[in-house]
Amino acid sequence: MSACLFCRIVAGEVPAQKVHEDDRVLAFRDISPKAPTHVLVIPRRHVGSLDELSAADGDLVGHLFLTVASVARQAGLDATGYRAVVNTGADGGQTVHHLHVHILGGRPLTWPPG
Ligand code: AMP
Ligand code: ZN
Repeated sequence: MSACLFCRIVAGEVPAQKVHEDDRVLAFRDISPKAPTHVLVIPRRHVGSLDELSAADGDLVGHLFLTVASVARQAGLDATGYRAVVNTGADGGQTVHHLHVHILGGRPLTWPPG
């Protein structure tokens, strides 16, 4: 069994509220939402963070971000806008070490982040 929480979600060992899945990526609702819509989009394959991607992952990253835009559109966020965030490493606030893009929307978001 994988020690990685998001790999366990991919494997179906931990339940998640999925909103999209295909052969390369999975999107599911964040368990502790920070906005009315808060969805995480992850690659099925374990990649620890943005910092662990290589040049060979270009197609996967493209598909990941196209999925972010498509999931946001499906949630109706394209009309009002949203934020896509990739927390990376300790100072970035990353707590789950499997690459994920946060989609946050449904309310105005402030800038800069804390
Ligand atoms: P980060 O801090 O960028 O690593 O984000 C990790 C996110 O995963 C946080 O927003 C958590 O609320 C979320 N999270 C943790 N466990 C689960 C889970 N079992 N299902 C869905 N989201 C989760
Ligand atoms: Zn993983």
